[in-house]
Amino acid sequence: MFYFCKFFLVLVVIIFTTKIFAFTWITPNGAHFPVAKVTLNVANNNCPNAGVTAAQLLALVHKVPTEFWNKVSTANLQLVKGIVTTASFSSFTDGASSAVLTQAIAQGAANTIIIGCSNKPSTTFSDGFTAAIGGISSATDVRGAVVLNDNDSTFANLTENQKVALLAHEIGHALGLGHSKDPVAVMYYSLGTKIQERLTRDDFDGLTSLYPHKSPGGCGSIAFVDHEKPPWNGLGSLILGAFLAPLLMNLVEKIKRRTTLRHG
Ligand SMILES: [Zn+2]
Repeated sequence: MFYFCKFFLVLVVIIFTTKIFAFTWITPNGAHFPVAKVTLNVANNNCPNAGVTAAQLLALVHKVPTEFWNKVSTANLQLVKGIVTTASFSSFTDGASSAVLTQAIAQGAANTIIIGCSNKPSTTFSDGFTAAIGGISSATDVRGAVVLNDNDSTFANLTENQKVALLAHEIGHALGLGHSKDPVAVMYYSLGTKIQERLTRDDFDGLTSLYPHKSPGGCGSIAFVDHEKPPWNGLGSLILGAFLAPLLMNLVEKIKRRTTLRHG
């Protein structure tokens, strides 16, 4: 009985320590930009209910590279501060979030993320809670979009730091990241109630998984089998734990026996 209790405890420790990744990708195949520089542009329409002009929105967007995603030195990605373009989100027709994002993406360009607001998608923003949506499309070229809710004052009621953090979260989606299960990550799913104002290790790992640096040199190393889809589903950890637990326990017993002999 004692053996099984110990076995169970060691198993739990192994499972917890191997559940490293909480991040996810927004698409199962990890859609991402094919270039290392992605430009952040803003649509040329003001947002009276969201409480920002296009120029003010651009100023908030310009804080995202330096305060968030460009800090990830392990990722081969640099966000570039763009401009207010001639695109406008004011002509959208109502629809679900995917339809709204499709309309926004159509206003953008290859290797850019376009950010703007619209009061039309009342279907998407009707609950008065969703402040913004974001996504990526790789249908023809790769482009991303973020649409702020201009249907009510959800965005306007946030502090400036919260607005920048929310934009960082949505731009994360537009770069290909899904929601994280890590409650302190910027990409945590319930950002609306708890806004994180700085990146965590899990955000770093998520972005790096989509934009890894290419291995330098040419030693002809064997290609690793990768693309293990994050997050771990737990089964791998369970199997690994079941194998490792008896070995670890054996090792501990051996060390204990040796220590006992030395002191005996
Ligand atoms: Zn989100």
